[in-house]
This record gives sequence, C-alpha cells and structure tokens, in this order.
Amino acid sequence: MARRSKPKPSFQFAKCKQMTGTVISGTQNSFMVEGAEGLLYLATLKGKRLSLDADYYNPLAPGDKVDFIVDDFDSEKAQIVALQPRKNFVARYNEKKKAIQLLAANVDNTFLVTTPLLPDFKPHFIERSLVQMDKLGVKPIILCNKFDFIDDSPLAQKWLALWRDLGYTVMFVSAKTGEGMAELAGVLTDRLSVFVGQSGVGKSSLVNVLDDTCVLKVGSLSKKYGRGKHTTTKGQMVHITLNTSLTGGVAGVKASVIDTPGVKKFVLHGIKKEELATHFFELAPLASRCQFGTSCTHTSEAGCAILEAVKNGKVSPLRFDSYQRMRAEV
Ligand code: GDP
Ligand code: ZN
Repeated sequence: MARRSKPKPSFQFAKCKQMTGTVISGTQNSFMVEGAEGLLYLATLKGKRLSLDADYYNPLAPGDKVDFIVDDFDSEKAQIVALQPRKNFVARYNEKKKAIQLLAANVDNTFLVTTPLLPDFKPHFIERSLVQMDKLGVKPIILCNKFDFIDDSPLAQKWLALWRDLGYTVMFVSAKTGEGMAELAGVLTDRLSVFVGQSGVGKSSLVNVLDDTCVLKVGSLSKKYGRGKHTTTKGQMVHITLNTSLTGGVAGVKASVIDTPGVKKFVLHGIKKEELATHFFELAPLASRCQFGTSCTHTSEAGCAILEAVKNGKVSPLRFDSYQRMRAEV
C-alpha cells in the first residue's frame, strides 16, 4: 500500500478570508450570499475575475455556489470571486430584457405551479415549461395548487390527466384546505426546490403553509421572520422548517425553497425546430423512428411517424397542437 504523504502545513488563514457560500438572492451585481453557519453577506461581483455567460441577463441565481472574500473593513460585505460548476439550472427567456434569465441553480426539485382557476388554467405555460426543462435536463413536477377549484375547470382536469398518463409527475395541493400538503412536504424534505409559475398561482402561500418559522441570519445578527412574510418579486431562497402538522408530528424537518418571480408567459430559448419533438415525452421515440429523420417537420409529410400516431389516436391532438404552436415559435 502506498504511504500517504504528510499533510503540507497550511498558511491559508494568513492570506484572505475566502469562503464558499450559496447565493440566496440578487440580480445583476448585488447578491445575498449565505456562508458558513447561515451567515449572510451582501456581495458584489469582483471585476472580470468571474467569466460568466454574456447571454444571461443575470449572472448568478439563487442556489449558485460561489467563492467569496469578506471585506476587511465590513464583515457583512463580500466580493464574489468565482462560480462553482452548476449541477443544473432553471432558466427562461425574458422577453422584456431580451435575455435568458436564470431562475435557480443546483436544485433537486423543480415545481411548475399551475391552478385550475384564479388565474385561469394555462396549459401552454406548462407545455412550454416542460419542453424547456427537458432541454435543460431538469425533470419537473407539475404542481396543481388551488385543488379546491378543480371541479370548476374541466380543461384543467383534462390536461392534468393527460400529463399524468404520459408519465409526467403531477401533484395536487391546496394551500387553502391543506390537501396534498403533507405529500408535498415529504418531497421537499432535506431538498432544494424551486417553484416556477405565473403570479397568483399561490407560490408564496404554499411556502407560508409549509413553513413553521423561517430564520434568516443577517451578518452576525439573526432575524426571525414569522409566517405570512414571504412575498417575493425578485426570487430568493428561503430555508424553512416544515410545519409539524405536515411531517407526522416530527419537529425540525428542514427544506429549502426558491420562490421565483411570477412569469406571465414562458418563452422558449435555445431549442431548434429539428429537435423540438425530442423534448416531448411521447413524440421523442416517434421522431427518432420517423423515416424522414431530422429533416421532417412532422407537420405535413405523408408517412411521417408522428402524423401516423396522431391519426391512429396514439398521440393526443392536444399535444400535437402544442407541438405545432411551439414549432411556429422556435
Ligand atoms: P403567488 O403570486 O404565486 O405567490 O401567489 P400568492 O401566494 O400571493 O396567492 C395568490 C392568491 O391566491 C392569494 O389571494 C391566496 O390567498 C390565494 N390562494 C393561494 N393558494 C390557494 C388555494 O390553494 N386555494 C385558494 N382558493 N386560494 C389560494
Ligand atoms: Zn416526421
């Protein structure tokens, strides 16, 4: 067996206070970073030392792991010097800013939140999100909140059953009645999860129902936030202690959640027409079998495998319509 070499003496403490932390919130050049023991620092990007993608509207998202140096004169301020490789990220195209907007990074669960009513059920928001998440290599969970309204929307019932039958994960909850919340709490336990959806679908309400008390530490001070305090416009990560009524009475069960800004319309990015079908669960195997290969638009060619499947009722006309809509957009 090879002998282990003696550890080299470490003089690191004498240099600078470089640490690793997690981005909690922030947009262009000012970020809240959580370091060891949950301490928060207000951090800026250090010059050009961070080589980040210029296509993005925001260089860092909640969940990003960064290296940072604490200011010599102000222990609550820091400079971010490096971004650590991402396990994954959730992003969408921001039409207003004409750039890709990072919503979250290094997540374990991505919830696409929808409602049967108030706001109206928007199947194409979820459809586009499903395609974009597949492109990003993220496996989403469709979360239908306001389940107390499900009887009011036959359209929602139809689509949610369709997605479930296709093999997408669908969960039903009501922040109002508490239905399904214990199951949701189970999925969130010890994980980092992100909620994506239009504003008004109840993202903040869900976090408030899940949360017992949320503790955010600022610098060396600790501030307690009670229930009902989560309202996000910019997107931020919160650490929550799950309500014991949702954990079978077990106290102290933790979860981390990123609440993203409400998204009105989900615009696709980085997807070529030729690959679009491969991002639909049921169209992907058909596309690879289609005799016309990648040159097929799968919209009008006689003998196309996808068109045949639509004709034989093997592919839902709802999904084929979605495909055609998105093909016209990308
Ligand atoms: P956000 O914009 O996604 O954060 O949505 P909010 O959490 O602010 O919720 C928008 C509205 O929907 C509020 O008036 C909530 O009280 C209401 N709401 C949230 N969840 C439910 C639910 O499960 N059922 C019903 N009926 N209303 C809900
Ligand atoms: Zn085809």
